[in-house]
Amino acid sequence: MAKSASSSPIPDPIQAGLASGWKVIDASTLVADREVEADVAIIGTGAGGGVTAEILALAGLKVVLVEEGPLKSSKDFKMHEAEAYPELYQESAARKTRDKAINILQGRNVGGSTTVNWTSSFRTPGDTLSYWQKNFGLNDYSAESLSPWFTMMEQRLHIGAWAAAPNENNDLLRRGAAQLGIPAAAIQRNVKACWNLGYCGMGCPTNAKQSMLVTTIPSALARGATLFTRTRADKLLFTGDKVHGLSCVALNERGLAPTGHRIHVRAKHYVVAGGAINSPALLLRSGAPDPQHLLGKRTFLHPTVISAALHDKKVDAYAGAPQTIYSDHFLQTQAIDGAIGYKLEAPPLHPLLFASTMSGFGVQHAAMMKQFAHTHALLALLRDGFHDESCGGTVSLQDDGSPVLDYPISAFVWDGVRRALLSMAEIQFAAGAKAVYPVHEEADGYSSWNAARKAINALAYEPLKTRVVSAHVMGGCTMSDDPKQGIVSSRGRYHELANLSVHDGSLFPTSIGANPQLSIYGITAKLASGLATDLTGKPPPSLPLL
Ligand SMILES: Cc1cc2nc3c(=O)[nH]c(=O)nc-3n(C[C@H](O)[C@H](O)[C@H](O)COP(=O)(O)OP(=O)(O)OC[C@H]3O[C@@H](n4cnc5c(N)ncnc54)[C@H](O)[C@@H]3O)c2cc1C
Repeated sequence: MAKSASSSPIPDPIQAGLASGWKVIDASTLVADREVEADVAIIGTGAGGGVTAEILALAGLKVVLVEEGPLKSSKDFKMHEAEAYPELYQESAARKTRDKAINILQGRNVGGSTTVNWTSSFRTPGDTLSYWQKNFGLNDYSAESLSPWFTMMEQRLHIGAWAAAPNENNDLLRRGAAQLGIPAAAIQRNVKACWNLGYCGMGCPTNAKQSMLVTTIPSALARGATLFTRTRADKLLFTGDKVHGLSCVALNERGLAPTGHRIHVRAKHYVVAGGAINSPALLLRSGAPDPQHLLGKRTFLHPTVISAALHDKKVDAYAGAPQTIYSDHFLQTQAIDGAIGYKLEAPPLHPLLFASTMSGFGVQHAAMMKQFAHTHALLALLRDGFHDESCGGTVSLQDDGSPVLDYPISAFVWDGVRRALLSMAEIQFAAGAKAVYPVHEEADGYSSWNAARKAINALAYEPLKTRVVSAHVMGGCTMSDDPKQGIVSSRGRYHELANLSVHDGSLFPTSIGANPQLSIYGITAKLASGLATDLTGKPPPSLPLL
């Protein structure tokens, strides 16, 4: 039987904070509309919103946070996919592009995607930053100038080397790559006293993952910030070139339907941090000025394809730290603006996500599920946004005001998909796989590298045939000091509105070419520190080291 929160040996910082008097209002419980005033209103509590909230609260500003999802804590994280996906993810982890060809994972809870992410931590690669400098005029975004911000967030979030040995799923990537002379390396993680369980995607049950849920948000709340949960920012209201209010909808306990009550927020400054897709959607819904029609455009996904492999020995890819080995070989062996490159990693496998990602049905699918414990998986993250043939997708609004992403996959990107499936199959055979299954509706299991190579080269690369997924949504509110190229300046300020900023992954003018969380932490720490100085006239605060 599950232990009650009070009898758990694991300290729960959220329950302790609530007991100490944090100002947290669950909008599903409101029986009347609410008005609230603040210096700064922040929409979203994920990577960008969390970092911004802590820095502004430390600067002595009165902060109000608005979050569409619920406030959950370690006592709620039971390592059950069936509970975690509906409670913690956008659209119950079933968000898709309009044509249903790409599955998109994004968080929807206090902490955003950081509550459910897999802890891989990389600084923004230098060649991505050089591309931004050259093509988007982001002159102060060099590896050197951002380095102090990355260092600051690495210290704050305990980002560092992972001391335990990689699990078998990751070690197979290391061994297969080594056999072929392909360089691979260890991934840094944002964890503190991690139990090496492997269920990060369902919320960390031991509070080891240094997500926004257990770091920056508690810190902001302890400094007097107010948090509204189950509260959807519906529209920003404008007068001239200023935002004068934010109108929010209270959602019911399940977080799905409006209760009929509204929350009206009035602030001196507003920070949109709802994440890619949702941030441009809020701005589109509000009718924010967008003379160049840039809002929602250039939305990137790191389109991700998967290759499964069967082994005689158990792999148990659900157990142990999720992603600890990577290879950038196929990013580094071609020019950033040449043929599309890809990063290789070994994702965690859990039965529900595995069953719904693998192709096939009926007896064949059941047979594959029986091999779950013996299955190894690799994924390839394609680096989109650096070529005219990979200019990303476009967010628009459906009739009910909710967002939808169109992401057409060009022949240029499909060619990268084919090459990525080849690279992964070759590594898997080199690691000793007895069969490799490229995740594609028309693919079979192949028992030799030769057979796999022939088949992968002959597959039809079309939407819904090749399984494409994404957990890295970026762009849609492009950052550039040239208003013709971007709607937000290099200081995170919305060009057309004096008191509006965007601080999240939607700022990126291309994809990152690496898992994005640390890029968001470092860049929004820089932007929030600048904003703190603008609003207080004082130097920015230093972050606590906890
Ligand atoms: C399963 C999974 C695994 C991942 N693994 C990794 C990894 O290992 N390493 C890595 O670097 N990255 C990883 N990522 C990606 C990374 O977590 C995200 O890129 C990052 O958290 C995005 O930060 P953000 O601030 O842009 O948005 P988010 O963190 O997604 O936060 C946005 C928040 O805003 C809220 N919101 C949106 N719209 C509204 C609205 N209208 N009103 C109120 N609230 C709103 C959302 O509910 C959400 O809580 C992973 C993501 C997922 C889903």
